[in-house]
Amino acid sequence: MSRRRFLAANWKMHKTIGEAVAFAREFLPLVKGADAEIAIAPPFPALAALGEALAGSNVALAAQNVHDQPSGAFTGEVSTAMLADVGCAWAIVGHSERRSLFGETDEFIARKAAALFAAGLRPIVCVGETLAEREAGRTFAVLEAQLAGSLAAVPAARAAELVIAYEPVWAIGTGRTATPEQAQEAHAMIRTWLRGRFADAADAIRIQYGGSVKPENAAELMAQPDVDGALVGGASLEPASFARIVLAREGASS
Ligand code: PEP
Repeated sequence: MSRRRFLAANWKMHKTIGEAVAFAREFLPLVKGADAEIAIAPPFPALAALGEALAGSNVALAAQNVHDQPSGAFTGEVSTAMLADVGCAWAIVGHSERRSLFGETDEFIARKAAALFAAGLRPIVCVGETLAEREAGRTFAVLEAQLAGSLAAVPAARAAELVIAYEPVWAIGTGRTATPEQAQEAHAMIRTWLRGRFADAADAIRIQYGGSVKPENAAELMAQPDVDGALVGGASLEPASFARIVLAREGASS
């Protein structure tokens, strides 16, 4: 089954409204007609303005996080309806920084993913092992537990719309990228797990790789059979750099 490559930018806590709009002006002409799905997740304050700048283009708007409850006394949080209202098509959930710095559990992430589907949005669900877990030979066990927990409430009828981001924690923001073989091994394991959970839909689910993806390594990572795109942090902050990743092809990298 052919899966359309999906490249998503995670800007984390970077860029003001003006910087986000300036990025869009420079980036959109570079990726016009690209043979890939593209999304950008700016910080919340830039969502509306970036959404306007991306309107009518081939680049979708994404959020970096969402709360599972529809409304209420949740200071600092944002609901799925608010994200839909501002034009988001996607939201990242379960990023390792949310898990490690803000204590998010698989159960909470599962509720967020279910809430996104219920609101007509789609989740990019992040999973990944730490260096200590990898060195202890626990990578697959950790991934299985995260998948089982985080995907517990995905409606079967919507499973094909799900996107998983495999992001080994030791590769995020460190400059240390997984080798294409390490990425493929983990992605293949995730695909096998997805087949057990979602049957035929598993072959339609995109699995992005994330962790120090750059223009120089994007093509060989995405040439792996189960690597269906990338979730990109640092290298997505410059328009030319992210465009080179979007346009990367095996044999024609950068
Ligand atoms: C990320 O934040 O999801 C990420 C992969 O970051 P970086 O590309 O900077 O490693």
